[in-house]
Amino acid sequence: MKYNALKGVHDILPPDIHIWQKVEDAAKDIFSVYGFQELRAPIIESTDIFVRSIGETTDIVEKEMYTFSDKADRRITLRPEGTAPVVRSYVENHMYNLPSPQKFFYSGPMFRYERPQAGRFRQFYQIGAEAFGVSDPKIDAEILSMLKLFFERIGLKDLNFQINSIGCDKCRPGYKKALIDFFSDRLEGLCPDCKRRYEINPLRILDCKVDACVKLKEGAPHVTDSLCGECQIHFDAFQDFLKSLDVPFVINPNMVRGLDYYTRTTFEVTCEHLGSQNAVAAGGRYDKLVQEFGGPPTPAIGFAAGMERLTTLLKSSSVDVVPSPKAFIAILGTEAERESLIISNRLREKGVWAEIGYSGNSLKSQLRRADRLSTEYVLIIGEDEIKSGKVKWKRLSDGSQGEVTLSGIYDFVSPPHRVL
Ligand SMILES: [Zn+2]
Ligand SMILES: [Zn+2]
Repeated sequence: MKYNALKGVHDILPPDIHIWQKVEDAAKDIFSVYGFQELRAPIIESTDIFVRSIGETTDIVEKEMYTFSDKADRRITLRPEGTAPVVRSYVENHMYNLPSPQKFFYSGPMFRYERPQAGRFRQFYQIGAEAFGVSDPKIDAEILSMLKLFFERIGLKDLNFQINSIGCDKCRPGYKKALIDFFSDRLEGLCPDCKRRYEINPLRILDCKVDACVKLKEGAPHVTDSLCGECQIHFDAFQDFLKSLDVPFVINPNMVRGLDYYTRTTFEVTCEHLGSQNAVAAGGRYDKLVQEFGGPPTPAIGFAAGMERLTTLLKSSSVDVVPSPKAFIAILGTEAERESLIISNRLREKGVWAEIGYSGNSLKSQLRRADRLSTEYVLIIGEDEIKSGKVKWKRLSDGSQGEVTLSGIYDFVSPPHRVL
């Protein structure tokens, strides 16, 4: 019997996993200094949560959700994105009673039943952050500068920050009307999806990647020309703060984001090395969603970054993050079995990665393993070494060699920090 992973999912294995961990660690470090704390929500939620937040007519809800009935006939969905669960948790736990802003980040798998293709998976991973309770555009700018710092930390280059404002309840209806007018005599040429979008949410036509629709939307009115006074002030201040923080950006008036819940600020970070599907992070403001979920009116903003894309980019820029053992204790004869075990364990107690040879492996094969692991020091212990209390070491990177006492191994391999 032979088993394979399901279609469209993938294992993340060494050495790739080290890139993943590097990204996750950097996110945690950077997000923490901006005051974001981790929130771990379940990966299953009531289906309603996503229908309500993402929108009934979106591709995600219509075609891509992993939805099933459990044994008690509840409708359950594997989360297709991370914002709705965090908002559900924020409201359920009355976190609106805590001082604002409340800031959270999350990291983990999301699920969408998409046609598998290069770089697209049915179980994929996102890192995201959400901030609740502040409408001040300073926080919009802080979030973009946080993303910039995060991407710089992991070594991503050639990034573009695109921003837009899609207005609010007051000004968006006017813009929708302008779009409907614009597309009314172009309807025939639109793709079937966009014909439906025209009826339900014409803003989504601007998101369409179908060639015909891309052509037809040329010359469409810009949302930024329809903003109400308050949205304009918010958008101007946002840009002003971005300049103060040295976040380079361009305004992309066609970036309306596919989800229903966005208001005002939307943004995308794209990378020049990724082709058409080139967003590495995307997000925006969703000032209405907490209320939709039964909470008090609470402005909010967040983003998600796709781990697969980030790690692919880092892999191609050959960042060397594969860890290696500090010491390999090779054994020569049965006498050394116990000694190697004790030495390696003491090193591990000091936080040093140590490997040992196992009986049945020749010294040659032990040394080959040490080499393949890119070990820093190899020490060979046999009967003679145990008797004399001295052991030879070799540094594989430069071939240098020397001798150290058995009891001196620990300080030799991992010198104690000098107290200043
Ligand atoms: Zn407005
Ligand atoms: Zn279309």
